[in-house]
Formats: sequence, structure tokens, C-alpha cells
Amino acid sequence: MDFTMLPPRHQLVEIMLRLYEQGLTTTSGGNLSIHDDDGSIWITPASVDKGGLTPDDIVRVLPDGRTEGKHAPSSELPFHRRIYHGRPDVRAIVHAHPIALVAFSLVRRAPETRLTPQAFDICGAVGYARYELPGSEALGMRIAEAFAAGPNLVMLENHGVAAGGATLLQAFHRLETLEFCAQTQIHAAGLGGYHLLSDEDLALFRHHDNLLPEFAPGARDSRELEGRRAIVDMVRRAYARRLMTSTGGTVSLRISGDDFLITPYGFDRKYIESVDIVRILDGRREAGRVPSRAVRMHRAIYAQHPDVNSIISAQPPGAISFAVSETTPFDTRLIPETYVVLRELPAAPYGEEFADPDNVARLLSATTPVVLLRNDAVLATGSTLLQAFDRIEVAEFSAQALLRSRAVGVLQPIGDEEIHQLERKFFPHEQT
Ligand SMILES: [Zn+2]
Repeated sequence: MDFTMLPPRHQLVEIMLRLYEQGLTTTSGGNLSIHDDDGSIWITPASVDKGGLTPDDIVRVLPDGRTEGKHAPSSELPFHRRIYHGRPDVRAIVHAHPIALVAFSLVRRAPETRLTPQAFDICGAVGYARYELPGSEALGMRIAEAFAAGPNLVMLENHGVAAGGATLLQAFHRLETLEFCAQTQIHAAGLGGYHLLSDEDLALFRHHDNLLPEFAPGARDSRELEGRRAIVDMVRRAYARRLMTSTGGTVSLRISGDDFLITPYGFDRKYIESVDIVRILDGRREAGRVPSRAVRMHRAIYAQHPDVNSIISAQPPGAISFAVSETTPFDTRLIPETYVVLRELPAAPYGEEFADPDNVARLLSATTPVVLLRNDAVLATGSTLLQAFDRIEVAEFSAQALLRSRAVGVLQPIGDEEIHQLERKFFPHEQT
């Protein structure tokens, strides 16, 4: 879907429904607006069910203050107006009360965004506005002051968050990614702490290794078309299951040999379509298309592992909290079925996926099909796309179970003999 082709009132409905579906707002909370080129502000209405919003419900506030529409504008119109006044580059605003960000606002802190390079590039620095009465001009002044200093995300004390962007989709991506940071930091704090990326670490991510030489694609055969469709279905499913955010996560699928399909650089995981997928043949990319920045690593894995036909990297908040934890490894031996699906789960130091992808590929084997990329992603391989996806899903469910167990008692591992029994039953060919 080309989001930019939607009229403002349709964009606002689409993003409000996405916020609601993703559990980022309640029926009564949150408001969004777009600053139109003619100076008017399109904004969501006050007191309308956010789960059932339609384009007719959107209010247009003209530059002279008159309104058009069947409802009153959101009570938070004052702060939207003040942000636009102070920041001409901000053309859209998303305000909501996502759970983890509200948790931070209650202890009067902003979450860290240096947890993964993707999150930092999308969110950047986060501003902070002191408490004022919701809907008041005083709150508008506080928030606008914080935005005027340059950040595109501002925490609202004891309240929630406001995100600005050049487009409504960009503002939404920022808010959703900051909520991911907040969830990850809360989980990782429970594991005993987290590692934050330095400026040098972040610079490693901004490479252009994905700008491979090009080739002119010929007619697309049924195998390629089915592969594209399968990737699109899986990316949308991973997004709906919150295993990926809008802006993070890569999927590839081998066609044969040194010929595979991969998701592009910079796309929205909910709106991806078959035409967006990039074909990589003998180290060249399909002309005019830019693949994921992880393309070199995917190619290195396919080259070293003939049995691997699909690779997924994703950032589900539970598993990622182990990837940013400085102290607690992800112990797959605690749950038998987790061990059978994931096996051992080694971790690659941050940056190796960019600096030495062959080395990451060497960590993988039949007994280590999944790797944690420190401060980056969970990387799962499979003989099929579904097997790689299942490994991501099992990693996240298991991580969430491990995180929750810490609140109710002391982890009790199963013993070495039980692990050997599992290996004898499920992997008899590995026994010597
Ligand atoms: Zn609010």
C-alpha cells in the first residue's frame, strides 16, 4: 500500500486504527494530526470510539480557527498547534499512552534509544515535558518548548508521549519504536542491566554494503513469484504477532544456489507488497532496488550452509532484552521444547554482522540454528521459511516466559541427563 496516496483524513483513520490494533492506545486515549500545506490542521475528534473511527469523523481546523466536521476537535489541539508553530519541519503528530512509555513517564524518565542501531536511527534523542493539566495551554507550551530544542519524541510526565514527523507514518514509526525501546529496557532491567551502543557502534550500522552491483531482471517465473508472496505473508504475520516492529526485521528465502529473495531497506512491515522484495543473484541486486543492510550476512549464510533455505532476523522485545543484557544468557535448556526447536543459542558480539558476516555464518550449524546478535536482533535459520519463523516465535515465547518466571520464584533448570534424553529421542542421528 502506498500510504502517501491516502488523503489526510484517511491517513489519520488508518494510523489511529493501527495504534489501537497494536495495543498502543485505548478507545478514549490518543490523538493525531496532520499540518496541511494550506495551514489547516486535520485532527482526530474528541470523545469518539478510537476503535471504530471513520474518515467522516476527522475534524479540519482552518488557519482562522474555524472548524469543519461533525465533531469537536481533540481537546489536545492546543499542543498540536504550538508544536507546528515552533517546528515547521514537523508536519504530523501522534500522541498516545502506550503502556511501557507511560511506565517511564510515571518514574519521570525517558527510555534509552541506544539499545539497537535501528531504534536509535529512528528515534534519536528524546525530549521531556514536565506535568501540566491535559488539554491546557500550559501543557501545550511545555511540549512545544521541548520540541523546539530539536527532538522528534517528547515524553509527557505522568501522561504519555508525543511524536512528530515529516509524515504521519514517520511520526507513528517513531512512537512505535520508542515503545519497543521502553519494553526492552524494562525487560532487560529485570535481567540485571543492559548495554548501550556508543557513537562508534552506531556508525558501524550506517554502511552502504547493500548497494551491490545491479543486474537487469528477466521474466519472473512461478517459483520467484511464490517466494515473494510467501515472504510478504510472513512479514505481515510477524508484524501482527509483534515479533517485528514497523521498521525492524528482515526475511530472505533462497531460490537456488547463490540466488535468493530478501526484504528491502527501509519499508513498513505492515504495508509490504510482493513488488517490494529484492532478488539477489550471484552477489548482484535487482536493478533499481535496495535490499536490507543485512544482505551480505544472508549471502554468507547461504554460501556456508546448503541446508539453510530461509533466514529471518527480528527484534521481538523479550528475546532482544537477552541480546542487550550484559549479565544474563538466554538459557534454552530450561524448557525441553524450546531446546528441541532452538538448540544452543550462541551470541555474536555487536557489529560482527556488518564487519565480518562470514564469522556470524560460522556460528550457525545443525545444533545452533539461531544466534543472538548483540544489541541488534535474533537471527533464525531454517530449511523452510516456516521453520525459521517458528524459531523466532519460540525464541520470543520462551524469552517472555523466562522473564516472567523471575517475578514468582527461582528458575529450576532440568538436568544434564534430561537434556541427553531429549537429544537421544529427537536427534538420534547426532548420537555417536
Ligand atoms: Zn493524552
